[in-house]
Amino acid sequence: MKNTLIAANLARVQQMLTDACARAGRDPTSVTLVAVSKTNPASAVLEALEAGAQHFGENRVEEAEVKIPAVNAAAASTPIWHMIGHVQSRKAKDVVPLFQMVHSVDSVKLAQKFSALAVERGRRLDVLLEVNVSGEETKQGFEASDWERLPAVRQRFVDEVLPLFSLPGLYIRGLMTMAPIVAQMEQARPVFASLAGLRAALAAECGQTLPDLSMGMTDDYPVAIEEGATIVRVGRAIFGERQK
Ligand SMILES: *Cc1c(COP(=O)(O)O)cnc(C)c1O
Repeated sequence: MKNTLIAANLARVQQMLTDACARAGRDPTSVTLVAVSKTNPASAVLEALEAGAQHFGENRVEEAEVKIPAVNAAAASTPIWHMIGHVQSRKAKDVVPLFQMVHSVDSVKLAQKFSALAVERGRRLDVLLEVNVSGEETKQGFEASDWERLPAVRQRFVDEVLPLFSLPGLYIRGLMTMAPIVAQMEQARPVFASLAGLRAALAAECGQTLPDLSMGMTDDYPVAIEEGATIVRVGRAIFGERQK
């Protein structure tokens, strides 16, 4: 392992991940670290790969179309790519061949589109349903804010997403959310707890396990892990502040 800044950052994040698991009585291997490489060059991804990162997240199709083939061609071990940003329906066809998992399925229409594209290619795509549990207007995703208090919101969410479990091209592995930006990570805890509760409620409704909860970023991933995250998406703590 080379001793670079990215390697040192990655080691620190992995240590914090392990510490958070210890506090929560969880096995550290139950949490996947996705290194969010958006805006960073292929060379930075290769550096992180060499330092032991295996999963990478990108949020823009145009950027991924250039970076992913470049990294895959140069890498000694093939990384696993996660699409974490909003995907326009007409771009879905470009996402399917590049990514192993899509975290940001945020509408029925997009789910149907991904399913059809995956079936065409004779595969199933691993996806997560992005949910807005915080009520922030700027957030993408299926609407489920305040679902614990409002049975009608919960019911509308369940009615909307339940049919997606019959789509033949998708394997819906769970839920994803983005917490609002807060001054202290503790303030994000109710959002993470809410998503975890919604996953359990939805699993009971659809009779499937829904193994994954993608939640937590640089400013709040330790708390997300304490609340049950199985995937954390960490960018700046690994690659530094983003290039604009
Ligand atoms: C950019 C981004 C992240 C990572 O954010 P950091 O604050 O850099 O850790 C995580 N999830 C999504 C959806 C993102 O767009």
